[in-house]
Amino acid sequence: MAIVKANAYGHGAVETTKALIRQAVSRVAVVSVEEGITLRQAGINAPIVVLGPLFHEHITDLVAHQLIPVLSDSSILQALAQAVASFPTPYPIHLKVETGMGRLGLTQDELARMIGSHGFPTSLQLEGLMTHLADTDGPATDATQQQLVEFNEAIKIVTAGGFRVPLIHAANSGGAVRFPQAHFSLVRPGIMLYGYHTLPSSVAVPDLKPVLSLRTCIAQLRIIQPGRTVSYNRTFTATRPTRIAILPIGYADGLSRRLSNRGQVLIRGKRAPIAGLVCMDMVMVDVTHVAGAAVGDEAVLIGRQGQEQITADDIAEWTGTISYEVLCSIGPRIPRQYYSS
Ligand SMILES: *Cc1c(COP(=O)(O)O)cnc(C)c1O
Repeated sequence: MAIVKANAYGHGAVETTKALIRQAVSRVAVVSVEEGITLRQAGINAPIVVLGPLFHEHITDLVAHQLIPVLSDSSILQALAQAVASFPTPYPIHLKVETGMGRLGLTQDELARMIGSHGFPTSLQLEGLMTHLADTDGPATDATQQQLVEFNEAIKIVTAGGFRVPLIHAANSGGAVRFPQAHFSLVRPGIMLYGYHTLPSSVAVPDLKPVLSLRTCIAQLRIIQPGRTVSYNRTFTATRPTRIAILPIGYADGLSRRLSNRGQVLIRGKRAPIAGLVCMDMVMVDVTHVAGAAVGDEAVLIGRQGQEQITADDIAEWTGTISYEVLCSIGPRIPRQYYSS
């Protein structure tokens, strides 16, 4: 079950999902009903699981688009059962149990009550049982082992209740790579589909290749004299005649403002440092040392150029975050282009 939430981690949910389905991925998951509807409206017929919390107001859309809900409490159970009561076959749902993430999920008692004798509606099918692992990319493994112990107890509760649940799942990317005992019937990789991971260096990681590159081009160039400054609040002052390139990408596009006077881009195979504060729609870089830099030159923010490479991990390090946030921050204004190999 490929995770394509948050616009497929910034890559574009519709095209990414279609590409994954072409590679025989059999189901996908998003977080919101709206994300699920976007996929359905693009003609995607594969099963779509909605991981995020649901409210009564979502039920009509959920059912109309045949989205499979994950319930983490009993709040909408009866209303959902009512909404699908006239359907020819029971409507699939998944239940989520809390085992240590400290986020959404049923406690074991709540689970037992929900599937208890007079509880579970006949118009619903318990298709899936899941939990979410909190520390699959941490240095230690004991917290994950403990979560799996609790999850196995939850599975027993459901089995003892007479349910045969076809889809049992727990593993995100880190869990899939590191904990075979967390594989159950399916895994839920997100970040690794996109070529990144946050596993510790002690763990053997599959050969991953970043899927996405982020590029723009030089819109204008000028030489500024010593003492002149660049961008808002004048945080960059030229100390020599300095060639500044203006790039039409800014923090509204996901280029973090924390890259101000800190990040780099690639131009003509060389690293050009960001000069001054990143603006909403533009950023300036110092290309004094980049021979021949010209308007229209490609500027790479994430990706390869010549011998150099900047990854989402590099940007994450410059800005104090993780590759996940760098990727899913890439804004809707950036046109996505897709290449098939
Ligand atoms: C986001 C998410 C995943 C994917 O996690 P990665 O670390 O990106 O592989 C899996 N399961 C759930 C419930 C999620 O919310």
